[in-house]
Parts: sequence; structure tokens; C-alpha cells
Amino acid sequence: MSKGTAATPAPGDNGTITIDLAALARNWRALAARTAPNGECGAAVKADGYGLGLDKVLPTLLDAGCRTFFVATPHEGEAARALAPDAVIYVLNGLYPGSAGFLAANRLRPVLGSLDELREWQAFGEATGTQPPAALHVDTGISRLGLSADEARTLAGDTKAPFAPELVISHLACADTPAHALNARQHARFTELAGLFPGARRSLANSAGVFLDPAFHFELSRPGIALYGARAAETPHSRLETVVTLQARVLQTHVLRAGETIGYGASYTAKQDTLVAMIAAGYADGYLRATSGSDSKAGAEVHAGGKRLPVIGRVSMDMLGIDASALGADGIARGDMVELFGPNMPVDDVAERAGTIPYELLTSLGARFRRIYRPASGEAGG
Ligand SMILES: *Cc1c(COP(=O)(O)O)cnc(C)c1O
Repeated sequence: MSKGTAATPAPGDNGTITIDLAALARNWRALAARTAPNGECGAAVKADGYGLGLDKVLPTLLDAGCRTFFVATPHEGEAARALAPDAVIYVLNGLYPGSAGFLAANRLRPVLGSLDELREWQAFGEATGTQPPAALHVDTGISRLGLSADEARTLAGDTKAPFAPELVISHLACADTPAHALNARQHARFTELAGLFPGARRSLANSAGVFLDPAFHFELSRPGIALYGARAAETPHSRLETVVTLQARVLQTHVLRAGETIGYGASYTAKQDTLVAMIAAGYADGYLRATSGSDSKAGAEVHAGGKRLPVIGRVSMDMLGIDASALGADGIARGDMVELFGPNMPVDDVAERAGTIPYELLTSLGARFRRIYRPASGEAGG
């Protein structure tokens, strides 16, 4: 038996994305329970809520009790502010040149990632006679954004132009690998550098960090991917409830004779007579071309009729082929829906076969699938 959470498609739908907002709310509460009682649990809602729709994701999290949101860009922050007039919203990419007025007008807090950004924010504060709150990003080993340790120490010792961030953050490079030595090193560096700013709250953990030792939680966590139902780390218990189910329609079935090939580039050759089902999903829908199966590489799998069926041949713009032999001609028919990912086919497994991560699959989901939101109604509050 298949677990079914996807809604019935309309006749014209090539595919559906079913988004279970009740599961999203439960996932946030599960993460918040892990970080309680000392730590607050925020939520990363950048990239349109990891592709699921900020306008649905953010209000659901707000109803569940989340009060602090992390976006990547100023415009994402503006969209989040319109949905959450009273929430605290941080802009992870920091301060773009000349954007301080825009951030302040939307009451967005930049995560200042360099001394240049910090000086520009301070100058804005002086020029306007305000001290809008901001976070400071210190680098502890991922080497993307953030002040170096030396810069942070110099800044903390600068009595002429003192800066008091209300939050200090850093980002873990290897939290999804709990045994990685960099985790402990980043934790130690973060503890030292954040300690230079005694009034500030501290935030280190993304989703994977929430599943590390509670010492990584500090005062504020900022999970993303675990909320949306993908596995946060190597550990199986780091996968919470499935939120997204992607289904697509069978266009037709036919037999591929032994020795014949399928798809562009003739990259997959049938070893025996093979029942093929052509599915109405392609890379234009966000089902990445890297899921293709060839004679030298196994493709991703889809779920139908209680079985996992491999993608064979190259994924095209609008369609892909699967080997449906395991179901037999009576087991799959034109018009049926197959599950590309969802409760029976973890998005993590599809991503792995495509040589990528679930983040890329979720944020690539295209506009041609009909979106169906299962409401979180009756689940609100907490
Ligand atoms: C995206 C992001 C997060 C959330 O990460 P997940 O792995 O999705 O939990 C947290 N912090 C920063 C700085 C990020 O860029």
C-alpha cells in the first residue's frame, strides 16, 4: 500500500505539487521542542520558502509560533515583512551598497558580513539619528561571509566607534556530518568571538545544527530544510514529516524491445523487452536532467503501484521515461499519476541519484505543476 497525501488532479494537470502545511507546522514545533527551553527556534524562509511559496509557508510558521525569520535578500525581506508585520526578519546576505534606507523602512535587520557593511550601516545610523538593530556575522570556518576572527577582535576593542550587534551569527560548514572535526572547531571559535559582544544573542545552528549536541543551539536557531521535510543530516532521525509530494501523469506506455534505445543521445539501451511509461515531467518542471538513467549510470526512481521504478534515458524538457516492467501492462495506464517524490519516495533519495541535495530539487520546482496546499487549519497556536 502507498501512503497517500497527494490530492486528486484535474484532467488538464500534467502534475501536482501537494504541500502539507499541517506537516510544516508540526515540523517547526518538533524543531522548537529540540531547542527549548533555552533557545528560540526561528525559520529560514529564503528562496520563496525553499520553493514552496513564502505566502503560504510564512503565515503557517507564524501560526505555529515562529517569531523570527531569515531571508537571503532585501526583496525577500520586503515580501516577508508584508506577511508578518511584527516578526523579526534578518537578511542573511547582509547590506547591499545603498540599501540601508530600504532595509530600515521595512524594519529588516541586515546580517552584517564585512567591515564595509558595518561601517555603512553605522554611517546610516549617524546620518538618520537612529540605531536600527543589526546582526553581526563572524566567520568560524565556512569562509563565505562574515568578519574574520582578527577583524572581530579589533572591532570589539574599538572604543572610538563602538558597535553593539543585537545578534551574532556564524554558519556551520559540516553540520550534516556530526562526526566532522570542523563542527567542534567552529563551536569553539564561535563561543570565543560571540563572547566579545556580551550584549548580543547568539545563533549558530541551521537544521543539521539543531540535530547536533544542544551546545550548538545557543539562543536562536535558524533551520530551513528540515522544516520542509528533507533529511537535515546523515542521521535518519533528522528527517521529519514529508511536506512536499510531487506527482506527474503517465502520457502513454509502450514496449521498448531488447537492444533498442530511449531518449535523446540514445544513452539507455534496453537489456530485455521493457515496458516503458512516459511521464509528463521534465527539467522545465524542476525535475533535474541529472536524474537521467543511462547504460553507465542508474537514474532516479519514481513510485507507482507500490514499486520503485527507475528513470531510463535522458530527462527531456517536458517528459521522462521510466521502466514500468515491474508493474506489468495491467499495472499502469495512460492518465495515472506517479509519485516523483513524496512519502513513498523521499526527496533525499531522488537528490542523491541526481548527484545533488534536496534543497536544489525543492527550489527548482516549476510553474507547470498545479500547487495544492493542504491547510494547517485547526493546528494553529502553540
Ligand atoms: C540557508 C541558511 C540556513 C538554513 O539552513 P538549512 O540547512 O536549510 O537548515 C541557516 N543559516 C544560513 C546562514 C543559511 O544561509
